[in-house]
Amino acid sequence: MSTAPPAAASGDVADRAAAGFRAGYGEAPAGRWAAPGRANLIGEHTDYNDGFVLPFALTLRTVVAAAPQPGERWTVRSELSDTPVEFGAAEVGEPGRVTGWGAYVAGVVWALREAGHRVPGARIAIASDVPLGSGLSSSAALEAAVLAALVDLGGLDLPAEKRPRLAQRAENAYVGAPTGIMDQSAVIRCRPGHVLFLDCRTEAVEHIPFDLDAAGLAVLVVDSRAPHRHVDGEYAARRAACERAASLLGVPALRDVAVADLDGALARLDDEEIRRRVRHVVTEDQRVLDTVGLLRAGRIREIGPLLTASHVSMRDDFEITVPEIDTAVEAALAAGALGARMTGGGFGGCVLALVEADQADPVARAVAQAYADRGFPAPRTVLPAP
Ligand code: ADP
Ligand code: MG
Repeated sequence: MSTAPPAAASGDVADRAAAGFRAGYGEAPAGRWAAPGRANLIGEHTDYNDGFVLPFALTLRTVVAAAPQPGERWTVRSELSDTPVEFGAAEVGEPGRVTGWGAYVAGVVWALREAGHRVPGARIAIASDVPLGSGLSSSAALEAAVLAALVDLGGLDLPAEKRPRLAQRAENAYVGAPTGIMDQSAVIRCRPGHVLFLDCRTEAVEHIPFDLDAAGLAVLVVDSRAPHRHVDGEYAARRAACERAASLLGVPALRDVAVADLDGALARLDDEEIRRRVRHVVTEDQRVLDTVGLLRAGRIREIGPLLTASHVSMRDDFEITVPEIDTAVEAALAAGALGARMTGGGFGGCVLALVEADQADPVARAVAQAYADRGFPAPRTVLPAP
């Protein structure tokens, strides 16, 4: 699907969800449930290494309008598709039976049932302002909004801190995307005006104030619109390399290699590529901790170099950036951004840049100009701030 919002998607997203429900089912929904997209301030490919991440919620949201329907049947409409998806208990029983975008919804039903919940049959209509496939977690936003709707409609007992694992299970085991825990945690647990400091091993969270306005700053998020290249295979390869390195080093996960012990650890690995992967993960965890330290001290402006160092590490050591992304980062920095990096899993997706509030437009223009100079399709500014 394209990363651009659908042409019909004008107007408030919650109104669109309700209107989609009425048009599709000829009645009003029982309620609406929302979850935001997310961007990750820093901490990339650390989640599946049991490490640290620092995402924040976007103002862009996915909204689900829903109502119960009798029996164990689910009917789902999205404003992005003309064809509704329908499934019952038999189809949902087996991962792989419902495919395409409907699998994200069926996966949530499946994961709830697997966890022993009695999931109510439901009619669902989805609307979203989160661009799809841009690395801003439209998939987790969809899972989280559907999950919230089903939990409320069924009166299920599932506290917020248990929802990320369940939504992750839907995406890993049902959809078949091997994501870590960051996306679902971010869209479920982030609070406005804060970044979520998440320890992906323990799932402990700390909400750290991130008041850009007060600091006279903004975060510019630019959708690179780079076509995703081999993203599933490359993601799996990075994950496998990290797991192999942890096993060679005799630790449960790369999170257990302290940055102070990095040189010693690298000396024990003879494959140069694996060494680079390890160096990224270990230094990235430390950059998250350093960023948290600065934010706790109210020194937001000083995190810029950490963001840029994270980008360099992703580019040179983890090798997950693409020319469009590197161009956007370089252009943002040259135009005065305090720091800039790719955000998300890589091979496309978005770049975020920390800028003086009054520099957001000039920096966005500089990125667009650099794209034009290189002959890339125009990038898109997704939002100026969390
Ligand atoms: P990201 O999470 O970065 O946006 P993913 O590839 O993980 O990218 O998830 C995108 C997929 O999620 C889409 O291709 C689609 O299958 C599904 N999806 C997300 N939002 C919606 C929506 N509003 N309507 C239908 N499907 C959606
Ligand atoms: Mg996703």
